[in-house]
Amino acid sequence: MEIKLENLTKIFPARKKGQKEVVAVDDFNDTIPDGMLVALLGPSGCGKSTTLNLICGLLKPTSGKIYFGDRDVTNVPPEYRGVGMVFQNYALYPHMSVEQNIRFPLENLKGDQKLSKEQMKERVLASAKLVMIDSLLDRKPKELSGGQQQRVAIARALVKLPQVLLLDEPLSNLDARLRLQTREEIRRIQKETKITTIFVTHDQDEAMSISDMIVVMKDGKVQQIGKPQEVYDHPINLFVAKFLGTPPINVFEGAIFENGLWIGEEKLFDLMPTEDRPVFVAIRPEGFVLDEHGPFSLDLIRPEVLGRDISIVAKHKKAQSETIRAIIDAFEAKHLPKDIVRFYLKPHKVHVFDAISQERIE
Ligand code: ATP
Repeated sequence: MEIKLENLTKIFPARKKGQKEVVAVDDFNDTIPDGMLVALLGPSGCGKSTTLNLICGLLKPTSGKIYFGDRDVTNVPPEYRGVGMVFQNYALYPHMSVEQNIRFPLENLKGDQKLSKEQMKERVLASAKLVMIDSLLDRKPKELSGGQQQRVAIARALVKLPQVLLLDEPLSNLDARLRLQTREEIRRIQKETKITTIFVTHDQDEAMSISDMIVVMKDGKVQQIGKPQEVYDHPINLFVAKFLGTPPINVFEGAIFENGLWIGEEKLFDLMPTEDRPVFVAIRPEGFVLDEHGPFSLDLIRPEVLGRDISIVAKHKKAQSETIRAIIDAFEAKHLPKDIVRFYLKPHKVHVFDAISQERIE
């Protein structure tokens, strides 16, 4: 099912005198093609959950429209939208078995949607099989691990055969290992069912690794929409550049001067003719190449061995953060100088942003 959001806006009015209203979602426009897994990504409070709640119908927009295919669902109640929803805290009923928990949404179906006991049983089993918990149907939620409980919640969301699946931080209560495993599971289930899925997370690793498309949000506003690699390789502003990537991108105060890109007294490389101005130069950790005659230097603090790679921890007086990280092949880093390390920079790993607007300069 294609999902189209048109000028979608949600404003929470001020509760008390002197308080400000909150523009939680500000003019969101996007079309999510059928069958995609999309991650809504951004820091806490940027409007991710509000967007999801608008799509599922738990919240009403202040303005704007939501379409599922050609159907305008803006004023359709949640139970008639055909969405399955999974929350961060699973929200399973503790006194019910896994089977009863998964079956629950089917028991409230009305009219011609009503199912027989036998049909319900089949649906529950199919859903449980999909998330591989069909051997646990008799257990109570407290007899399951966190990862298994989350699978039950996903099975319950899928049992009504929704056309849209919405997941709100589904992995945040799981430990690191289970997170990795469960995110792969979500990807597999989504691929198998081909349900258009929107996944909320503030974890950029999670978003980058499993989604077809990511939407980066800040202060209720969409910053950038695209394939994970495209957004990583071509961040539209400094916020997006800093939000994606581990270790994070290194940011320096710099300048464009006489068609060259400068940090301090060092000219990194020539640019296409463009006007002189102050800029931020953002360099991905993998953009540094050791080169004793290279144009850019850092003050070495220490090398850190990562195995195949070495992370060079360094500093620079024009850097925004206290330390810089450059990831170098361990073999190349064998003869590292003691104090000042020189580099050549891979041009496609260097992003330049206007110092005032913080927008990308091509
Ligand atoms: P998190 O990652 O912390 O869950 P989020 O990106 O999902 O954050 P939202 O929960 O959508 O963010 O909140 C967006 C903004 O709207 C925040 O400033 C939040 O305080 C505000 N907000 C959310 N729900 C309400 C509400 N019911 N009443 C008033 N303000 C709200």
